[in-house]
Amino acid sequence: MQIENVFNRKKFFICVLNYSMTINSAFQNLLDSFCDSYERDEAEMIARIVFEDVFDLKPSSIVIDADKDFSFEKSERLTQIIQRLKNHEPVQYVTGKAFFYGNEFEVNSSVLIPRPETEELVQWIIESTSNKKQNILDIGTGSGCIAISIKKILSEADVFATDSSLGALDIAKRNSENLQQQIHFKKSDILQSENPFNIQFDIIVSNPPYITEAEKSSLDKNVIQFEPHEALFAIGDDAMIFYRKIIAFANKFLKEGGQIFFEVNQQYGKEVVKLLNENNFKNTKLKKDLNGNDRMVRAVK
Ligand code: GLN
Repeated sequence: MQIENVFNRKKFFICVLNYSMTINSAFQNLLDSFCDSYERDEAEMIARIVFEDVFDLKPSSIVIDADKDFSFEKSERLTQIIQRLKNHEPVQYVTGKAFFYGNEFEVNSSVLIPRPETEELVQWIIESTSNKKQNILDIGTGSGCIAISIKKILSEADVFATDSSLGALDIAKRNSENLQQQIHFKKSDILQSENPFNIQFDIIVSNPPYITEAEKSSLDKNVIQFEPHEALFAIGDDAMIFYRKIIAFANKFLKEGGQIFFEVNQQYGKEVVKLLNENNFKNTKLKKDLNGNDRMVRAVK
């Protein structure tokens, strides 16, 4: 299934750890236990993420610090982490961190783990927009990754963000504080089509829930068991519901000449384009991600 490119993470591993080891031998041990379930590169990537986090190492220091022994506390923490990974929990939730557009974001099971495809959407928005005073709205902000990354570059903009989940808004607010970006957050459910800010926007962006019921069985355990279903799934098999609501919202609250950006389910990119065109949006463009799948749409009102 092609959807695996975006949402699925590979299976995790079983490992035997003994706390009288050096960092290097524990690392090698982890890698050996990975080899059945992972390609070498992937195994190394996960092991590095875990080790950098537990031992507070810089990316290259696993080699430099290789001969150091580690404390009982560290080995306890490593053992707990391994247990969580064995239960298929994504490494980003285990460490509480995900990297997105060059910055570290706090994540937990209230928010979707930011995906590289969404970085491409952010890149497109930044390339298509000049840094001036303007109102930008991110609908369904989750971890805040889109809103905060945009504000870091388009520093003159006033950036607004909504989510229907209080748990997500907590994380997004913490991320905006940690990354020192001022974002105006409000709890709001786009399915109710309300505008909690009572202003007009120059840009509206959203990466709404877009997986259908029919695609559910193609998802890996670590996605389906751990990531928030309200962030992953459209309602039933109506893959377009959020797009219809957001376009109706944009009909009212996007300025003439303003831009709308979406991340899309690759199976529904052309339908999103059609919907925008039916609503008299102009210059509608469907763009592929680095994997060659239809992944994002831009249009002008
Ligand atoms: N905007 C967030 C992201 O792109 C959350 C998206 C969502 O929860 N559907 O990661």
